Amino acid sequence: MPMSTRTLPAIIVKDAALLPGLIVNFTIIQKKVAKACEESLKGDGLVFVASQKEPSEKITKESLYEIGAISLIRQINKMPDKSFQVMLESKIRARIVSVDADGGFFVDVEEIPDNEESLDRIEKEAMLRHIRELFFELSNVKPGINSNSLKSLNTIEELGRTIDLILVNTPLPYAVRLECLEITDVRERYERAVTILNDEIQVARVRNDLNRKVKEKVNKNQRDYYLREEMDSIRKELGEDALSEEQEYRRELAELTASDEVKAKIEKEINRLSTLHDGGSEAQVERGYIETLLEMPWDKESEDRNDIIAAKEILDRDHFGLEKVKDRILEFLSVRTLTGKGGGPIICLIGPPGTGKTSIARSIADALNKQYVRVSLGGVRDEAEIRGHRRTYVGAMPGNIANGLRQAGVKNPLMLLDEIDKVSSDYKGDTSSALLEVLDSEQNKHFRDHYIGIPIDLSEVMFVATANSAGDIPRPLYDRMEIIEVSSYTENEKFHIGKDYLIKKQFEKNGLQPSKLTINDAALKKIISSYTREAGVRELERKIGEVCRKAARSILEGKERKIVVNGKNLSDYLGKEKYKKDTAAKKDQVGIARGLAWTPVGGDTLSIEVNIMPGKGVVELTGQMGDVMKESAMAGISYIRSVADKYKIDKDFFEKNDIHIHIPEGAVPKDGPSAGITMATAVLSAVTKIPVSGRIAMTGEITLRGRVLPVGGLKEKILAAKSAGIRRVLVPVENKPDIEDISEEIREGMDIIYVTSMKEVTALALVD
Ligand code: ADP
Repeated sequence: MPMSTRTLPAIIVKDAALLPGLIVNFTIIQKKVAKACEESLKGDGLVFVASQKEPSEKITKESLYEIGAISLIRQINKMPDKSFQVMLESKIRARIVSVDADGGFFVDVEEIPDNEESLDRIEKEAMLRHIRELFFELSNVKPGINSNSLKSLNTIEELGRTIDLILVNTPLPYAVRLECLEITDVRERYERAVTILNDEIQVARVRNDLNRKVKEKVNKNQRDYYLREEMDSIRKELGEDALSEEQEYRRELAELTASDEVKAKIEKEINRLSTLHDGGSEAQVERGYIETLLEMPWDKESEDRNDIIAAKEILDRDHFGLEKVKDRILEFLSVRTLTGKGGGPIICLIGPPGTGKTSIARSIADALNKQYVRVSLGGVRDEAEIRGHRRTYVGAMPGNIANGLRQAGVKNPLMLLDEIDKVSSDYKGDTSSALLEVLDSEQNKHFRDHYIGIPIDLSEVMFVATANSAGDIPRPLYDRMEIIEVSSYTENEKFHIGKDYLIKKQFEKNGLQPSKLTINDAALKKIISSYTREAGVRELERKIGEVCRKAARSILEGKERKIVVNGKNLSDYLGKEKYKKDTAAKKDQVGIARGLAWTPVGGDTLSIEVNIMPGKGVVELTGQMGDVMKESAMAGISYIRSVADKYKIDKDFFEKNDIHIHIPEGAVPKDGPSAGITMATAVLSAVTKIPVSGRIAMTGEITLRGRVLPVGGLKEKILAAKSAGIRRVLVPVENKPDIEDISEEIREGMDIIYVTSMKEVTALALVD
């Protein structure tokens, strides 16, 4: 196609590229340009629009982009400010050949028609359809594309024009438009346009996606907001002020001393609560949970007092005697202070009830200025009682360890694990292993309570355990604890405890002054000997309390102004004496021997009865007997058979007779081998018909050969013998050091005889 050069008025623009097909408005300020336009309008109305590269004073060919557009002037209007408004329609690409020397008001240009003839017909059609489809697709994902342009597209057959029209109708940056304007080759322009459209479609899609997400979020927030407002107004309507509850939780949360994780978790729960139906049971559960979490001490702690002198003063202030126990505790506290370990090893106080274990623990807490909480483990069988229930259970609760901590309100209290020997396990899990986790300093930094759900730090808790019997503590627990034994009190000790501590305590409790009431020494002694029989002083305290209450009433009723309780009038307050000094069964009897037993609640005497009757050599054992005791009985019988000759017992005696051994008294099972010599003595007496002395009690294990082996619990046993009014006690010789350890007061008046063999026992016990 021959290129024709023509001269046209030039409109120079900046930041605009007039792709063919574009219709635009320009404001023209320069009069000369406007004039040229008007001139042109008189003819064919064509002008040339060129884009300027850089703003410059003088327009030269070099300052303009080479390709511009020959455009048709549609309209020209003179504006009030003397400028001109021109409406142009870009028609065809043209190349600048030269610019006039007169400041670029006219240019010589040559048209560049699209070189579509070079394309294959099919190829062109394919390109045409493809580009249209892309544009339709774009119009679907991108808002703001003129729908008229879509319609007209279908009527245009030329590829070049189609592409230009599409580009004109696609919002594109100036640089891209300019680039497209400069692409004179149709195929090249097509390729560029395809890339541009594809990019635009992708961008539009991603944008739409982002838009949708943002919108959804905004919508949800808005929805929640409206719902909450509505809920609020319903609440107000119902006269409930429940929203303040959530605010209250948040306020408490803000004041909580806890790690960020814990706070975040609680916050999450509070948020959850706000989404729940207010009156529903789920909200109820959630509320309980949040409250529990808020009440836990987390990182809150109290300051310890590490003053050993003060600790000693407090222990002495609260407890009479117990020197060994106090010493052990003070040693323990000193080590704890020096090592600076918060929790440290665990003290376990073992002894009969009422001997002051709990109150020692309380004094330790006092001495260290620690919060004190008591967790009762007696009868705990279900692991969940220690570790809590999972919250999915109806009525789920935290375990008693977490609960204890909540009560304490600090993370470093003294926690008393009362009656640790009374935990047992059943099918619902292993309580002792749960406890082990509580007590194990390796694990308890992250103790998991099923209900709480967030690990609890128990490493700062000082645990003190109590137990009646060491034997009943699960072994792994026992191994982790530092055992301190607290033993029974003697009558004298009880007297001092009563006089110096319990009476004062009860006076205070009952609002009495010493000027109003006196319980004299004789009365106190009588309470101890005739109204109580126990290892500790709990019953004694109760009886003193009873006297105080009755006296208080008397005084208030105005019957008396000052009361003195003495040995004589004591029965007015406490009724008839409950215990008489045991004088019964001191007769010598055949087949009855008196043993001494240790039980978790103190010492006790036990009578062993044996009956012999014709039969087939059966040995029957009844009464309160444990397995070990049964074995002991069999060993005793074996021994007797081996010495049958000496006692002139018939050879076939044991084949022709049945032996029945029975331990009648006592509700507490007395297990242990220490009744061995007693049983053997009773059997031998029954077989030989030689009576056993009623004034003797004995304890000791027996071997098949009749040797007497040492046993435990001597202090309790001797005390039991003494309170039963028995003076003479047979004790294994190997227990001599234990006896010497017992206080002078207990041994006083007792005739303790050490024995090594059954021979010696029978020599002393059987009355020939
Ligand atoms: P436990 O825990 O061993 O069963 P408690 O600690 O409950 O016994 O003691 C029972 C009562 O006896 C408490 O009031 C306690 O203060 C008092 N008590 C026990 N031993 C002594 C003691 N040595 N000195 C003073 N009071 C004592």
